[in-house]
Amino acid sequence: MDNATRLQYLEAMGIDVWLPRAVAGQKPEPAHPSAAVAKHSPPEVADSWEALQAEVSPCTRCDLCKTRIQTVFGSGNKNAGWMIIGEGPGHSEDQQGLPFVGKAGQLLTEMLRAIGLDREEVFIANIVKCRPPANRDPKPIEIEACKPYLLRQIALLKPKIIVVAGRVAAQALLTTDEPIGRLREKIHALNGTPVVVVYHPAYLLRSLLDKRKAWTDLKRALQIYKNIKG
Ligand code: URA
Ligand code: SF4
Repeated sequence: MDNATRLQYLEAMGIDVWLPRAVAGQKPEPAHPSAAVAKHSPPEVADSWEALQAEVSPCTRCDLCKTRIQTVFGSGNKNAGWMIIGEGPGHSEDQQGLPFVGKAGQLLTEMLRAIGLDREEVFIANIVKCRPPANRDPKPIEIEACKPYLLRQIALLKPKIIVVAGRVAAQALLTTDEPIGRLREKIHALNGTPVVVVYHPAYLLRSLLDKRKAWTDLKRALQIYKNIKG
C-alpha cells in the first residue's frame, strides 16, 4: 500500500492526519501529510474543547477526584480575549460544576463589571478542576497533575490577556514562589501572552483595604489589554 492510499484510508476512518502546527511568526511547513505516516508516527489529533472537556470530566489523575462532587472545567466565552484563572473550586462551585459562583465569584463578577466586562465576555477557569477538601490549598502534586489541562485551555482559547487571581494560582501558573505583593507589581508573560496578577476575590472579602489595590490591578490589566488591541 503506498502512502497516498494509506492516507486515504486514515481519512476515511475519520482519523485526522497530523500536520505541523503553525508557530507564531513562522510560516507553516508545507510538509506532505504522508510523511507522518511513512515514519510510523501515530497520527495526532488536533486538540479541541470537546476532547479536553471529555478528558477532564472523569479525571482521576490526582486524589482530589476522591472527594469532589464533580469536576469544574471552566466556563465562559471560548472566543474571549480575557481569561481569568482562579485557584480551585469551592463548595458552591463543586455543587454547581461552574467556576466562581459563590461569594468570591459574586465579587469577581462585580470587579469585572467595574472595568466594563460581563462574565459572558471572559473565560474563567481554575488551576485545579476539583475542589480541595475543606477548601485547603491545592498541593503541588495536585497542581502538577491538573496544570496540563489549564495549559491546553489557554492554547485553545488564545486569550489576549490572562488575569490570575491569588497567590496560589499565580505561583502555580508562573512557576515561581515570589510573594503575591511582588508578583502583582509586574506584567508577566506565558508563551507570549501577558499575565497580570491580582489579589484573590476571596481574600478581598476579608480585607477591605486591599480592594483598592485590586482595583488598581484591574485597571492596569485593562490598560494593557487596550494597548495590545491597539
Ligand atoms: N475561588 C477560586 O479560586 N475559584 C473558584 O472557582 C471559586 C472560588
Ligand atoms: Fe484530575 Fe485535576 Fe481533578 Fe486532579 S484536580 S482529579 S488532575 S481534574
